[in-house]
Formats: sequence, C-alpha cells, structure tokens
Amino acid sequence: MHDVVVVGAGPAGSMAAWAAARAGCDVLILERRAEIGVPKQCAEGISARALREAEVPTDGPWIAQEIRRGILAVPSPDGLRTFEAEGVHGYVLERKLFDRWLAARAVEEGAELRLLTEARGVLREDGRVAGVKTSEGHVRAEVVIAADGIESRVGRSAGLVPPLKPDELCTCAQYEVVGRVRYEDAFTILFDPDRIPGGYAWTFPKGAGRANVGVGCRGRRPRRLLDELLRGPLSRLVEDARPVELNVGGVPVCGPLERTYDDGILVVGDAARQVNPLTGGGLNAALICGRIAGEVAAEAASEGDPSAARLKEYQERWEKELSETFEAAREAAEVAVSVSMEEVLEFLEGVEEDLEEVLRSAGVLERHWWG
Ligand SMILES: Cc1cc2nc3c(=O)[nH]c(=O)nc-3n(C[C@H](O)[C@H](O)[C@H](O)COP(=O)(O)OP(=O)(O)OC[C@H]3O[C@@H](n4cnc5c(N)ncnc54)[C@H](O)[C@@H]3O)c2cc1C
Repeated sequence: MHDVVVVGAGPAGSMAAWAAARAGCDVLILERRAEIGVPKQCAEGISARALREAEVPTDGPWIAQEIRRGILAVPSPDGLRTFEAEGVHGYVLERKLFDRWLAARAVEEGAELRLLTEARGVLREDGRVAGVKTSEGHVRAEVVIAADGIESRVGRSAGLVPPLKPDELCTCAQYEVVGRVRYEDAFTILFDPDRIPGGYAWTFPKGAGRANVGVGCRGRRPRRLLDELLRGPLSRLVEDARPVELNVGGVPVCGPLERTYDDGILVVGDAARQVNPLTGGGLNAALICGRIAGEVAAEAASEGDPSAARLKEYQERWEKELSETFEAAREAAEVAVSVSMEEVLEFLEGVEEDLEEVLRSAGVLERHWWG
C-alpha cells in the first residue's frame, strides 16, 4: 500500500510526485511509456514565473531560449503587420529534457517511477477509489493522482472526467524547423481569423536558427493548414523553414473541470482541463496545480483521511491561484472566436504605440503569468 500513486510522468504528475515525496510520503509514479517527454506534443513556451514557483533552475539544458517580447502578427495586403509588447518574460523549453528532469527530481526526492506501466482504471474498495488497475496488476494507495493527460483514462474511470465535445478541443500541428528565424527572442503569434478559425499560429524560437512553428485551430485539418501557412504568412517569420520533427496533438480549451477531487482521488493538469482556454497553454497550470495536488495528497495520506471532504482543499487552493486567470481567458477566447480580421487590425492599430501598457493595465500579462 502506497501513500500516493501518481498516474502519468508529465509535468503535472512529476510535480505532484515531487511535492508528495518531499512531504515524506511513499510515492509511486506509473508511466505507460518507456521514455519520459517523448513524443513532444508542445510548443514548449512557459512563463518565467511558473518556473520560479516550481523551483526549476533556468540555467539547465532544458532551457532552449529566454523570451523577452511578444509579437502579434496579422496578415495585411502588403505582407504582415506586426505589433510588439515588451515586458513578456518566459522561456522556450526542451520538453524532452524538461519532463525528464522533473521526473528525475521526484525520484531523487524518493518517489519510485515504474515505466511501461499503463493504468487501466481505478480500483474501488467500499465505494471509494483505493488504487489503480494497471497492465502489471493492481496497485493500492491512500490517494491516487490522475495526471494522465488529455485522454485521462483514470479520471474517466473515476467518473470525474467527461469526454471532450468537438468544440472543446483545439487540434494542433507543429514542425520543429531549422531556418532563418526573424525574432530570436520573442514568442510570435499569428492571428488570422479568416484562415485559422478559433485559433492561431505561432513561432517559438529555440536558439541557433531553430524554432517551433505550429498552428492550433478548431475544425480544420491542422497539418494541411500549417503547410499552407508556411508557404504564406509564416514564411515571413521563419524563412526557408525546413522541418526536423512533426508534432501533433490536441488541447482541451473548455476550461477546468468543475470538480477535480473525490474520495481517494485528485485529477490534475490536462486531465483536469487546467489549460488556458485562450492560449491553449497548460504548462503553467500543470506545475502549480501539480504541486498543490502533491501537497494535499501527502497531508491527507499522513492523516489517514483520503475522503473527498479532506481532498477538497486541493480544489480550493488551485481555484484561489488560477480561477481568475481561467475565467478571464475563457471570456477573451469567446471574443477571439467571433472577431473579424478588420476588427483585430483596427484594435491593434489603435493601441500600437503602447500595446504593453494596454495589456498590462488590463491585467493580461500578470493574469496569464507572462509579466
Ligand atoms: C501542439 C501543442 C503545443 C502546445 N504548446 C504549449 C506551450 O507552448 N505552452 C504550454 O504551456 N502548453 C502547451 N501545450 C499544452 C501542454 O503540452 C500540456 O498542457 C502539458 O503537457 C500538460 O501536462 P500534463 O502533465 O497534464 O500532461 P502530459 O504532458 O500529457 O503528460 C501525461 C503523461 O501521462 C502518461 N499517461 C497517459 N495515460 C497514462 C496511463 N493510462 N497510464 C500511465 N501513464 C499514462 C503519458 O504518457 C504522459 O507522460 C501544447 C499542446 C500541444 C498539443
């Protein structure tokens, strides 16, 4: 019997496992893959604040590039119009190294990691979650943390994670490319509602002429769209882009689950839909919510009280940290899906001189953790 079993060694799971192990618990992490962080399904952008709060050093090989600016690009008759906001502080990661480092930190703290072990559902005793059924047999635990990503087999089997509806999902395609990257220190967002319905394209630089170049949208085949954009407006942001890797994946943009706990179980990260509905970014929340989940699970296990009433503290704490961010992002995302190209351009031209100030005074940079 373990104190805490964490399903999934992504950022949310490794963060939870680290926090619980640090609190002195017996922690087991189950990961279905042989290798952590592979395949990469991410543009790898993260805020400086999230790394600071997760106590992740920024001088390791998991940092590809520091970011100091955000650039909004919109198509215009003569090419691309760009609008710049200083004051953004973040990083582009090497996710394969980052995820592995986070997992190793949890193991160093005392957690046990079992690779090639797939969780198939929750184990119930006396009506409450008491562990997980895995490809290698049953594992019992005081508290299960479902950090098993967008599919969340464990969260679904616990009855906490409903299936995503089509309009709650953004589909993404991305190439890691080598090429001539126009902005080496900026996240660049290409906003083109006519061509990219309900989404945007991006270039996130990785240093030394490398970048992640991708698109996330609703309702179109993203890879075909990405190829079109690379022949069009994206070619102005990365010239002569030559792919070295293809990444595809889905992002839940419905906002967090209303309930992320039950007797004996917590749900965290993409599994809990703790993803910014405007940007599709989930790393910031995965780290902060993962840590809270690990801390609360550890306390509940050591008190011998893994009841829903005890575990509710997890939900209260992450909501205190992030519900304002999620709500503001949800409202902004609703506007973004209905706005026309002309309206976008008119707005940006109106605030061009002081875009940073406008974003800052509206609380956008702070609320989304980029300031
Ligand atoms: C194309 C794309 C670009 C993105 N870009 C960004 C970005 O730039 N910035 C950002 O913040 N977010 C981005 N995201 C979102 C971000 O990648 C996720 O929010 C983040 O990875 C969530 O972390 P997680 O730990 O919750 O889940 P995951 O990273 O998905 O980790 C889940 C882990 O659980 C394991 N697992 C799953 N099921 C089981 C099981 N049954 N048993 C055992 N193990 C299991 C998986 O193998 C995996 O290791 C992007 C997503 C996509 C698709």
